[in-house]
Amino acid sequence: MKHTKISIIGAGAVGSTIAYALMLKNVSAEICLIDIDETRCRGEILDLSDALSFCGPSVIHSDSLKNAGQSHIVIIAAGKRQKPGQDRVALLQANKKVIKSIIDGMQPINQDTTVIMVTNPLDLLTLYAQEIANIPRSQVFGSGTFLDTQRLRGLLSKKLQIAEQSIHAYILGEHGDTQFPAWSCAYIAGSPLKNFNLSDQELEHIAKETREKAYEIIKYKGATFYGIATCVAAICRTIIFDQKRVTPLSCYLEQYEVCLSVPVVLGEKGIEKIIALPLNDKELKQLDRSAKELKKYLS
Ligand code: NAD
Repeated sequence: MKHTKISIIGAGAVGSTIAYALMLKNVSAEICLIDIDETRCRGEILDLSDALSFCGPSVIHSDSLKNAGQSHIVIIAAGKRQKPGQDRVALLQANKKVIKSIIDGMQPINQDTTVIMVTNPLDLLTLYAQEIANIPRSQVFGSGTFLDTQRLRGLLSKKLQIAEQSIHAYILGEHGDTQFPAWSCAYIAGSPLKNFNLSDQELEHIAKETREKAYEIIKYKGATFYGIATCVAAICRTIIFDQKRVTPLSCYLEQYEVCLSVPVVLGEKGIEKIIALPLNDKELKQLDRSAKELKKYLS
């Protein structure tokens, strides 16, 4: 394994589960977990270290923010989470302060470091982090609709009885309430999804279930963390092994002047290319709606 260091800021439900997923998947030799709550962080590290002997030759420890800024990858999962029924944007003011203190604390961030944003509201805070990190924008991006896309593919898989890995369908736009499925660009084995006999009603139901899944999980158990942790570990693996996997991530779209999720080519230098999907008029309007929704909060 290459000697890589991944730092996770925020050792809450999401951050510590990301550390666990990274360990199980043998993604990084060194994992660093940091939290403003040092007692909780120490407890998580001790607990996680019990699993080390079953995993690769990793080491898990804590560090200063300044040292974390020299890691290959920094994952930011610190800050407030949604309460049941609360939307993600409601967290903006509180979490913007958290992001500022973390990014300021890491300066000067190494010019080769990649920063993965997880804290909500994801797209707005990704844009904010890009503005203050002093590293190229292509190296600061959000997990975006990667998780929502996995949820969509899971539901389609169940309905069609076809493995999700064989389904190419994306959720685009905001990692939030204005997200939408790009049905016109959804394919299975080169055949458009429309050939698979799902009614408009069924498609609408799948889109709604995808959009509302986080609210449902939070209603039952207060937080979501397994899905996002697995997605973030997959993103890290793609970066570290320079896999160039096409992944829907939140990145800066010049024409909209905000961060939104679209499929990108991901490699060791972060986002290497944005894939322009041939969206239809309805989907272009939906992307526009996501951008407008986010812009309301920028002033
Ligand atoms: P949590 O309350 O379990 O943990 C948050 C942690 O952040 C706490 O341990 C807290 O002490 C720490 N923290 C707060 N301020 C900090 C600072 N300045 N420096 C370092 N640590 C700090 O919350 P959680 O369930 O882990 O969620 C964390 C964030 O991830 C939330 O914003 C949540 O909405 C978001 N989230 C995003 C996705 C996604 O798909 N992008 C999915 C799930 C959760």
